[in-house]
Amino acid sequence: MMHREMVSVFVGLGANLGNAQGAVMQAVESIGKLPNTQLIQCSSLYRSAPVDATGPDYINAVLHIESRINAYDLLDAFQDIENLAGRARPYLNAPRTLDVDMLLFGSASIDSLRLTVPHPRMRARAFVLRPLSELAPHLVSDVDLRKLDDQLIQKI
Ligand code: AMP
Repeated sequence: MMHREMVSVFVGLGANLGNAQGAVMQAVESIGKLPNTQLIQCSSLYRSAPVDATGPDYINAVLHIESRINAYDLLDAFQDIENLAGRARPYLNAPRTLDVDMLLFGSASIDSLRLTVPHPRMRARAFVLRPLSELAPHLVSDVDLRKLDDQLIQKI
């Protein structure tokens, strides 16, 4: 189902298995091909140490799109893209080929079984806030960023 209005959506991308950088770039391409959707801007790529998990470092980025697709159909599309990247979920927070999170869907607040927006953990994660602040500095305060100074993350 389509919205009449274009909605500004921020998407968090992360990968830490195999060709992680390739998986993130492939996700950007796949999201750009969604119907009624336009890529606005992709952040720099970042390398981050896993939070609450083990495994290789992550490659992360945040993508700004505008879309007429509603939030649930967009979540379906993101999950299809994750599945195409061969993501398996053997256990909670297992390393993953590709993770696609909906960070912000316009100014919507959504709290349902399938979808929570704004993404509940985004303010606690440097690998989300640092790239998001590149694209939308007005959405991220310096105070928010400074709280996450201890998280290991580097622009690549
Ligand atoms: P994860 O394994 O961390 O990618 O979590 C995936 C699950 O989180 C899916 O079952 C989604 O339905 C749910 N979910 C809730 N809110 C969101 C969101 N904002 N973005 C992506 N997945 C979400």
